[in-house]
Amino acid sequence: MVKDLTYYAKKFANLRVDRARGTAPHKPILLLTVLDLFEKGYIGRNEIYLSPELTANFLKFWHQFVASDHHSNIALPFFHLTGDKFWHLMPNPGFEAAIQAKVKIRTLPALRSAVKYAYLDAELFALLQAPQSRTELTTILIQAWFPDKGGEIAESFKYDEFEAIQQSLFDSGGAVYSVEELKDEDRIFARNGAFRRTIVKIYNHRCAFCRVRVIGQGNLDLVDGAHIKPFSTFRNDLFVNGLSLCKNHHWAFDRGWFGVNENYHILIPGGRFTEEEAIKSRGMKDFDKETIALPNNTDYYPDKEALKWHMEYWKIS
Ligand SMILES: [Zn+2]
Repeated sequence: MVKDLTYYAKKFANLRVDRARGTAPHKPILLLTVLDLFEKGYIGRNEIYLSPELTANFLKFWHQFVASDHHSNIALPFFHLTGDKFWHLMPNPGFEAAIQAKVKIRTLPALRSAVKYAYLDAELFALLQAPQSRTELTTILIQAWFPDKGGEIAESFKYDEFEAIQQSLFDSGGAVYSVEELKDEDRIFARNGAFRRTIVKIYNHRCAFCRVRVIGQGNLDLVDGAHIKPFSTFRNDLFVNGLSLCKNHHWAFDRGWFGVNENYHILIPGGRFTEEEAIKSRGMKDFDKETIALPNNTDYYPDKEALKWHMEYWKIS
């Protein structure tokens, strides 16, 4: 069997979808999203990450094209597309057996911890490099699954929902969510991702603690957009509740190995950790009483009340 465009066109038109409560739109919506991300240049290698960008644009297509009352859980098609044989999952270390055994994973956090990325048949990935094959496969998906929506697809492809979320957060200085809003896991994941990316941008990709600044290709970055008051408790994605921290110092901050006082000075509490005398690089304790790196825009300086909360929570004085 030749795995050419005709082969995949047939596959896309005949996806194995759940029909128990009407035709489930999840798989065609995810494939449209993947085509869209190819179009936008987000996918350079044959690695499709369950990222905020993917999720935000999945929701874009979902809200535009889905009329049924199915629930928009991106984890479902991301996992179940493996049943269509051209979509494969790369497990994270420790999850090889579960993925091999096709243990069902139905939530976004569970899938993100089990799966590193999805990848396509090499033949399909090669085909998707060509804009013409992307257009053909998009047309097939629309005809087969959303025949009355043909007129809207070009417009949706022009629009990047992840950028739109970032922009709207930027305009409002971030957001605080209600418990009710947290139930929409996909939406919160996309918006949380936008918060993290924006914090990193505000700090110009620099760790506020050690000032390391290393930017990788794609969206890889050595620094994270960290929350001062934890999101799980406070649901606070205001930018002033953010700090840009490298992986090490994010981890250390989340465990109270340092705090930041009202003058934005780093405080290292005694007795929390030991460290080797640093040879060439500086040890953590060498940063005691130093001022953190701050955003250029004073509007985004970390909230002193949040920093105080963190210091008190971790008993740093
Ligand atoms: Zn750092």
